[in-house]
Amino acid sequence: MCGIVGYLGKNNALPVLVDGLRRLEYRGYDSSGIALMNGDKTVFSVKSVGRIKNLEDKLNENRNNQTGNLGIAHTRWATHGKPTEANAHPHTDCHNKIWLVHNGIIENYKELKSRLEASGHIFKSETDTEVIAHLIEEEYQGNLTETLVKILPILKGTYGLVLYHTDEPNKILAARCGSPLVIGLAENQTIIASDVSAIVSHTRQIIYLDDGEVAEINGNGLKIINLNNQEINKKIDQIDWDIAECEKKGYPHFMLKEIFEQPETIKDSLRGRIILEEGKVKLGG
Ligand code: GLU
Repeated sequence: MCGIVGYLGKNNALPVLVDGLRRLEYRGYDSSGIALMNGDKTVFSVKSVGRIKNLEDKLNENRNNQTGNLGIAHTRWATHGKPTEANAHPHTDCHNKIWLVHNGIIENYKELKSRLEASGHIFKSETDTEVIAHLIEEEYQGNLTETLVKILPILKGTYGLVLYHTDEPNKILAARCGSPLVIGLAENQTIIASDVSAIVSHTRQIIYLDDGEVAEINGNGLKIINLNNQEINKKIDQIDWDIAECEKKGYPHFMLKEIFEQPETIKDSLRGRIILEEGKVKLGG
């Protein structure tokens, strides 16, 4: 039920990210956050509990450093850890070099977290997501794409992930397993989002990422690989709908869309809240 937006391009990422979050606002969420990176590798990040308006108010309070040609943003629907600023995404590693946003659930996060804490990693949130940043930190040897492909098979659960590393300032990655991600290709900019409605005002050229695929976007363009490091040739779809139609996902009316979306909506709302092994239902957040 939550949303992701990522941007790499020649323009300032911030307006695209904030506009994307607003367009995803119709989905359920409890907090939001944003991180921008400048060419000099400084990161500017803001998080807020509640509506996107609260995030925008915070952004308005702090007008310095709000430029960056790369950025990620997230609206969270908490599964692990309360809706607080500390638990809002983006999450980072111990040295604030890896920045990531995640939709979904990492089912084996407890064992991964204990292992990482035992080897000295300090966690700043109660989320399942944060283990991904520390796992990457643990394995990183100078190439984020290689590291991501190496650690993804360790994760059990679902993810739509968008991330970057401050040591590779012209690169943004996306990976998908069970949570939707689309990539919008425009001249001089690439936008990644969990829903096409956050992209369509910028471009109509879309690639739908499939499960088990990793997208690497850098100054030279886009490359999609699978978890065996094989490059995949993806079809570029042309979206003919306007924004309102996009939000209706091809249905003639919102009511029909919502009726047909009920199975997915219920699945999404309950994702991570039914703990089968313990026979429990957890309705926090
Ligand atoms: N499981 C993650 C969390 O609780 C992501 C939730 C989401 O998909 O928004 O922070």
